[in-house]
Amino acid sequence: MIDRLNHPDYDRWASQIRATGGCRQPIHLRGKVDHYDQATGQLLHRYTTRTEPDGILRVPCKTRRASRCPACAETYRADTYQLIRAGLVGGKGVPETVSAHPCLFVTLTAPSFGAVHVRREKNGKVLPCHARRNADTCPHGQVMSCTARHSADDSRLGEPLCPDCYDYEGSVLFNAISPELWRRFTEALRRRFAKLSGLTLKTLREQAVISFAKVAEYQRRGLVHFHGVIRLDGPDGPTSPPPAWATADALADAIQHAATVVTAEVKPLARTFRWGEQLDIRRITLDGELTEQAVAAYIAKYATKAAECVGTLDRRIQSLDDLDALPIRPHARRLIDACMRLGALEDLADLRLIQWAHMLGFRGHFSTKSRRYSTTLGALRAAREEHMRAENITTGRLPLFKEDTVLVIAHWEYAGQGLTLGDQILAAALTGTQLGAPNDL
Ligand SMILES: [Zn+2]
Ligand SMILES: [Zn+2]
Ligand SMILES: [Zn+2]
Repeated sequence: MIDRLNHPDYDRWASQIRATGGCRQPIHLRGKVDHYDQATGQLLHRYTTRTEPDGILRVPCKTRRASRCPACAETYRADTYQLIRAGLVGGKGVPETVSAHPCLFVTLTAPSFGAVHVRREKNGKVLPCHARRNADTCPHGQVMSCTARHSADDSRLGEPLCPDCYDYEGSVLFNAISPELWRRFTEALRRRFAKLSGLTLKTLREQAVISFAKVAEYQRRGLVHFHGVIRLDGPDGPTSPPPAWATADALADAIQHAATVVTAEVKPLARTFRWGEQLDIRRITLDGELTEQAVAAYIAKYATKAAECVGTLDRRIQSLDDLDALPIRPHARRLIDACMRLGALEDLADLRLIQWAHMLGFRGHFSTKSRRYSTTLGALRAAREEHMRAENITTGRLPLFKEDTVLVIAHWEYAGQGLTLGDQILAAALTGTQLGAPNDL
């Protein structure tokens, strides 16, 4: 820390750190950017990291995972919020008229893989977990009943009544197959909606488009479920109104049907998976119970979370040997163990369960959207980078060139990641961010 503070290039280092926005694990880049006059070939300007502190440029890691880098995850969360919101009320290039299109908020859940401890409330009262008068005793001697009224922070929540009866394999296979199940759901939804409307898929496309944005959320039992915004547009997407016959009720009927009928198979094990029975479909309105802000905030929040909320890890697991040493609860350990065992089977290689064991088998994207939903994260990032470029020009760091007369040749290489302990403390002070947990340091 003292070295850094006393170094002559401290000011430049501090401005690099400020530019990363408090990133906890910035990427180090080494390289140069040359600007040539396209007509004469003359070198107009050269930027090189050779003159930068430590000979590198630090750029944000851009992770979406709050547990790894709160600052970058916050950027991702804010972008996701804007993206979802634009699809509901307009903005960022989406017309405001989109708010009049029928739009539903849908939650698709995972099925049961065994009874788990739950907290249920009714009229503000917590109900007993699994109260059964003549409960069966399982083959492992466990009475399948729990009369506890669990508190919200009870660590047993989401854990099986009998771990030996719990279908750990089914649980991780469902996570692994769930992106395919979602894909089939969207297909079935389009087909069903066309059928209800008396159209073929092709003629439906000429009149209406179904757009969606979704996010995956881990439940405490270690299974993913999906929250999605599903919207009806005219044939040109959000800029065109849907036909009058394309109503929210018809869309809800089609969702109900599609969610019930789709299945996805893990053929080598002859297992078939479908959505759980709990299906929630709600209308998104500007002034009703479920507002567009609530939906956008909800989806954005889950986009930065991962399986760490079930008490497992957010990094890849290298081998089974590591497993016993990990600071995780037995339920998570058994889920990871199921991934490692099934992942070793050649027939299941394409599920890549070992690589995704730390995600309990789920390897899908956390938030995805159809092409026409709204703007893209890339467009939001490009707008921000353009803004930063403009700042660099006005502060004299980049000369102002006419775009079409200048040839830009950039060469970058990866030179590492992270901050030293001393740099972390200084960076936290400079950017007003929190230091990582002690084991990160
Ligand atoms: Zn970061
Ligand atoms: Zn219980
Ligand atoms: Zn049992």
